[in-house]
Amino acid sequence: MSVPVMMSAPKLAPFESCVACFRGDTTTGFAISGEPGFIVDTMRASTGVVVNRASVPSGQQHITIRLCRKCARLRGTRIGHLNGDSLPRYDSADRVTMAGAILGGRASERGR
Ligand SMILES: [Zn+2]
Repeated sequence: MSVPVMMSAPKLAPFESCVACFRGDTTTGFAISGEPGFIVDTMRASTGVVVNRASVPSGQQHITIRLCRKCARLRGTRIGHLNGDSLPRYDSADRVTMAGAILGGRASERGR
């Protein structure tokens, strides 16, 4: 019986990697609350990552995004420690102001 030989190791993202650059052991990020369209738009604006809308479950979603300090600085995205009390939250209820807030690096800090 022959055993298949793995010619190269599978490529895996490092543990707890940044969604934008895949830097491992990233402990910072932010939260997004809203409908799938808001999630997709906010992901693109705040991280540069383009998410397929069909890959986001329908209905109100609450997700946490892992983003490193370097990528946050490049995008002007407000971040905090993922285990901290003041994780910035981009909420669809604030949609009118959020687009500018993301670009301006501000976010509401109601994440508890
Ligand atoms: Zn990064």
